[in-house]
Amino acid sequence: MKGFVRFASILLVGSLLVSGVFANGQQAEGGKQYYVGIAMPTQSSQRWIQDGGNMKKILEGRGYKVDLQYAEDNIDAQIAQLENMITKGVNCLVIASIDGESLTNVLKKAAAAKIPVIAYDRLIRNSPHVDYYATFDNYKVGVQQGGYIVEKLGLKQGKGPFNIEIFAGSPDDNNAYFFYNGAMDQLNPYIKSGKLVVRSGQIEFAKVATLRWDGATAQQRMDNILTAYYTSANVDAVLSPYDGISIGILSALKSSGYGRSGKKLPIVTGQDAELPSVKSIILGEQTHTVFKDTRVLAEKAANMVDAVLQGKPAEVNDTKTYDNGVKVVPSYLCEPVSVDITNYKEVLIGSGYYTEAQLK
Ligand code: BGC
Repeated sequence: MKGFVRFASILLVGSLLVSGVFANGQQAEGGKQYYVGIAMPTQSSQRWIQDGGNMKKILEGRGYKVDLQYAEDNIDAQIAQLENMITKGVNCLVIASIDGESLTNVLKKAAAAKIPVIAYDRLIRNSPHVDYYATFDNYKVGVQQGGYIVEKLGLKQGKGPFNIEIFAGSPDDNNAYFFYNGAMDQLNPYIKSGKLVVRSGQIEFAKVATLRWDGATAQQRMDNILTAYYTSANVDAVLSPYDGISIGILSALKSSGYGRSGKKLPIVTGQDAELPSVKSIILGEQTHTVFKDTRVLAEKAANMVDAVLQGKPAEVNDTKTYDNGVKVVPSYLCEPVSVDITNYKEVLIGSGYYTEAQLK
């Protein structure tokens, strides 16, 4: 009998766990398990793999059923995935968009089905149906990138002139403008004073943007710039908004002889602390990156999911910055951290984000 009771309670606990009852009680009416659709942009970049993985793990740990989809930077595929999630009856959508301006119609369908929407990392524009936005302080990311160049070149101490080239992110990603503005607010005074010289003359966002954050596109542009403007001069710094772009820029630089026989590689910034870039920093090639702890972002976004499904207000720390063209979306901004050779161990290994072995 004792054995049977134990067996029966194991079965009961097992089925309760499966139904999610024990994990925070995340249940829809009628005891149904809440279902969350997570749409991520691409698996071609490590950060989004971590983001998706972290979100899934946290939400499942809280008792939700999760549908995680990647759209490989194909806008139509992402829209189709969202439509499919809506048809399958998800209770909440978490979306890191590919093109922040192309989800207006599909979000109308979500709204008609009363599905709350959380914009993840990238703002969804032109829709009133965005409940919350979980992201990083994107302007500050740019300040850290531009500020790093200012500091390392000693511009505040009056050093210069130095040659710099500018790269920005994808024009369909709202974040790209924040990164660019944050960085250019640091660099512009020195461009104006002549202490920073952009030999290509390519400075405006539209001229320096990189569609879909594509490293190969950036490599090609850097190649062209080096051939056209640097046959008799060296580039001292490159503003790069994202690690994948930095790696492309570094390939172009290395093919053009930088990093060999006295031709020093320039300062090259980055973002996301992706493994290839951290390894490159350790090798003395890429100079800088911005670490955005996707574990923290996923936790904040998961808290938003909890809140909207319980009909409670979510935690936000910014209600002014992110106007999506229709409304200001209440946001939670996480803190980015500037990383280079001097602090990568403390920040990346110390926080448990990477193990020492992963960086070998
Ligand atoms: C993210 C960055 C990332 C970039 C490219 C942006 O929206 O905020 O962290 O580097 O997309 O994936």
